[in-house]
Amino acid sequence: MTEPSIFTRILNGEIPGDLVAQTDRVFAIRDINPQAPVHVLVIPKTEQYRDVTELATGDPALLAEMVALAKQIATDHANGEFRLIFNNGASAGQSVFHVHAHVLADIEESRLVG
Ligand code: 5GP
Repeated sequence: MTEPSIFTRILNGEIPGDLVAQTDRVFAIRDINPQAPVHVLVIPKTEQYRDVTELATGDPALLAEMVALAKQIATDHANGEFRLIFNNGASAGQSVFHVHAHVLADIEESRLVG
């Protein structure tokens, strides 16, 4: 059997992770190495899909749930606008082969005050 992914281990509470949101099938954690003021990873709870091409074929509704959660996070933590990035393959920068979306957004100035 293959080892659980780092994201599954976070989901199971085996290693720490900063949980931002979750649904029945999807969860979201802050990236440990943020590349933007808001940098959250949106991840299916199942790790059966390696990348978004597999997910889009295997369970398009789950992909839609990821997009919906990304939108909610961008609304809750920024102004609702966001970049959504999937790295596909090691040479494209993918390092964890449990499909995940990077949600990147700026924080509204009003949220920085007070
Ligand atoms: P990829 O390069 O596969 O598209 O993205 C993997 C992401 O997972 C990276 O941005 C990396 O910073 C993040 N990451 C790797 N290990 C951990 C971890 O233990 N905790 C969290 N929160 N993020 C991680």
